[in-house]
This record gives sequence, C-alpha cells and structure tokens, in this order.
Amino acid sequence: MAYPIITLKTKKDQSLRRFHPWVFSGAIKNTEGVINNGDIVEVQSNRGDFLGLGHFSEGSIAVRVFSFENKAPDAAFWQGKLKSAFEARKSIGLIGNKETTMFRLVHAEGDGLPGLIIDMYDGVAVMQAHSLGMHQQKDLIVEALKELFGKDLKAIYDKSESTLKKSGAVGTDGYLWGDEPKVCVPKEYGVRYNVDWVTGQKTGFFIDQRENRDLLGKYSKGKKVLNTFCYTGGFSLTALQGGATLVHSLDSSAHALDLVVENVALNGFDAKKHACIKADAVDYLKDLPEDYDIIVLDPPAFAKHLSARHKAVQGYKRINAHAIRQIKPGGMIFTFSCSQAVDKQLFNHTITAAAISAERKVRILHQLHQPADHPVNIFHPESEYLKGLVLLVE
Ligand code: SAH
Repeated sequence: MAYPIITLKTKKDQSLRRFHPWVFSGAIKNTEGVINNGDIVEVQSNRGDFLGLGHFSEGSIAVRVFSFENKAPDAAFWQGKLKSAFEARKSIGLIGNKETTMFRLVHAEGDGLPGLIIDMYDGVAVMQAHSLGMHQQKDLIVEALKELFGKDLKAIYDKSESTLKKSGAVGTDGYLWGDEPKVCVPKEYGVRYNVDWVTGQKTGFFIDQRENRDLLGKYSKGKKVLNTFCYTGGFSLTALQGGATLVHSLDSSAHALDLVVENVALNGFDAKKHACIKADAVDYLKDLPEDYDIIVLDPPAFAKHLSARHKAVQGYKRINAHAIRQIKPGGMIFTFSCSQAVDKQLFNHTITAAAISAERKVRILHQLHQPADHPVNIFHPESEYLKGLVLLVE
C-alpha cells in the first residue's frame, strides 16, 4: 500500500537513522497531498531514501514513527509489537504474579509503540492513546490483548478522551471489550488498592512509583511519615505495611483523600496510625507541625514543557528546602520529579541548591528512577522521565 510521503529537509534524517521515532514539524521540507491527523505516512530523506512509517499529527511532533521497515503494518505487525511488550513484562516477573497484579504493559516509545500507553489492573487493561493514529488501531489492539491474556483478561477500557482532546474526533471514554468488573482490587507487592480508572488521574494509578514505594516500606518501621501529594495513598500504604507508627497523607484533592481512607481500611491497617490532611502542600511544608522522620515529596509535573522549566525548578527548590530545613536530624526525604523537561542532572542541582539554602548537611542514599515496566528506548532518551533521590539529613 502506498502512503502519502513526507520529505525531510537536508540533514534532518539523522535522528531517524538512529531510530529516534519523532519527526518535528520544522524538519519537514514538503508533504504529498492532503494528510489528515492520524494518517499513516512514509517518511523519506531529502534524497528520497525510505526512513520509516509513522502516524501523522498536527502539532510540533508531526510524525511518530512506529516502523523503520518498508512494509505495510497488518494485524500481525501490531500483534507482534504487543507480544514483544508482553514478553518483556514476563521476563521481569510481572505476568502471572500473584502479589503484584498491576503493571504497565506498554510504555509508548519505550516499547516501540509511540503514543500508546496500556496499564494492567488485575486483568483490566486501561488504554490511553496520545496520538489519533494509535487510537485508530484500537480494534487490532483489542484483538492482540485478548490473544495475549486469554481468560485472564477481564475488560479493556479506553481512557483517551483527555489525551486526545486537541485532536477532536474521538468518541467517549468507555469499555472496548468486557464490562466494568464487579470486583477489581489490584495489588502491588501484596498491598491492595482501589483503582478508579474511570474518574482517576492518568490511567487511575501511578504505577511508576512501585519500586520506590517498596523502598520506603523497608525504611518505615517505627517512623513518623509525611506523604505529600499523596493522591490515593500509594506511599502511605507501603509505610503502614512497613511498620510506620504514624502516617500523614496530604493532598489538595478531597476525592483522592477519601480513596486513601478506603485503601487503609481495605488492607486492614490500624486507622489510628493514619490521618489525612487536606491542604496545599507548599503552604503546609512552610511550617511543619510535627517532627517527621520521613517526608515524601512527589509533586505533579511542575514543568510540562521546556518553557515552564525555570518556574518548575523554583517550585522543586522551594518544597525541598522547606523539608530539608525542618526534618528531624537523621531523617530521610524521598524526593521526586516526573517532569520530563527537568533532567536528572538539573534535578540533582536543584536539590543541592535547596540543601544549601536550608543550611543542613545532606547525603544522597539512593538515586531512584522509573521501574522496568516503564522501559527507556535507548534511542529516545525522552522516554526517561521519573527521577528521585533519597536524602539523609544530619
Ligand atoms: N504520590 C502519588 C502520586 C502523586 S500525583 C502516588 O504515589 O500515587 C500528584 C498529586 O498531587 C495529585 O493527587 C494532586 O491532587 C496533588 N496536588 C497537586 N497540587 C497540589 C498542591 N499544591 N498541594 C497538595 N496536593 C497537590
């Protein structure tokens, strides 16, 4: 099948030849005919060499390349891509795992499927497309998921409305296959969670903090823990499971805090050891009323774009300086950034600046990142986004 051709300017083919999957609109010399948002296109170099096949989008990332081979994608092609993602999760022990039943099956560019996220919640697949082209493959994706999981698949939910808002032309969120399950309580290292993929943020849960939450659990015995930006309480639950004597969960969203309370009860943890604080984290951190042993700082992405980077850095510096200044001597801070625009080095520098302004001695105990089910495509460093540090404050 012949696809419309997009020809790149001189030298703009280099990143694609190194398997980086994005074509920016500024790299395009000319386009053949009318190309609609979501269409499959062939990308060629200035000299007419084939470079790849991808989905076209109106916007700064004009093409997301899903294949570097000159072969029309058929059902077997998409099946193979999803199988490769599935096999990677199998090799890291996440398929058929009784204690951890939620994980990321497809991490977009990290799995060679630009624009596609699929998270699994105890047999329910929640799909979130970030490009119209990927969304248009949804019937093939449904078939591939049914084939891969067989009877272990309970339902497939499409949560693409918010991510595809700008491209218009999408129906409503809903089940693509199967119905809302009556009971679905996914687990992470044995801890149970109510996950609400219908009204919750992203696909319902921040699966990417699994290993970092587990680490917090290991250090929580006998400790007083403050979990800021707690959402549905991931870090709070692992702290309670790890034997914390008191956990405070702080968020500005009352709905999120209601879910934390439900999750504490769901696991049979002692409600007396836990309290919710509905507040603005930045305000609360200015003057802490308790001498916490451990503070978790896991804010939403302060910088969604490069243009917001400077302001984001100030935001990270402020909350970290407050926490470093006030934490108990010998206390630990688990601090994170999920802003892609703030890289590891900039994040570390920002935390150093916070430590300088707080005038306390700080050691880095751990350098944290996203887990193995959020793989980084080596040719697409942008798929690395989550970074964190565990600080020990003297
Ligand atoms: N740590 C969580 C994920 C954090 S998501 C987990 O492991 O699941 C970010 C959360 O920050 C959201 O729940 C959002 O409601 C909350 N939030 C955003 N701005 C806030 C603010 N200024 N103060 C307190 N909470 C805030």
